[in-house]
Amino acid sequence: MNAPHTWRQQAQRYLLEGVQCTACDHRMFPPRAVCTECGAASMRPHRFCGGGEVYSYSFVYHPPAGHEEFAPYPVALVRLDEGPLVAAQLTDVATDDVAIGLRVEMVTRRVREDSADGVIVYGYKFRPAIPPARR
Ligand SMILES: [Zn+2]
Repeated sequence: MNAPHTWRQQAQRYLLEGVQCTACDHRMFPPRAVCTECGAASMRPHRFCGGGEVYSYSFVYHPPAGHEEFAPYPVALVRLDEGPLVAAQLTDVATDDVAIGLRVEMVTRRVREDSADGVIVYGYKFRPAIPPARR
């Protein structure tokens, strides 16, 4: 991955920035040009809160190049509190604790190191949400 491409995706990766339809208020992530709900083409930026719960999950035992150090690792479809499903790696979680319905929150973590040009790519992952009483 080259630097300009990384730069363009930065807001989306770091901030979980999606869009909200100005016609029907439907919220989408990743951002889309046309509303998947009503077909309108008028969007405004929407920053998701980063909270959600595990909708489905799996474990990766044979990761793609650049991700070997993390294997095996859990990946999940996370249902964001605002509605969209997001695929992401889970982090800071014991294998036995991964479960459907687990409350999670977004964190920014190192995703991989590009050995070709030394670029370290950061992105979002999800970790178990800490209950308010334990903060
Ligand atoms: Zn819409």
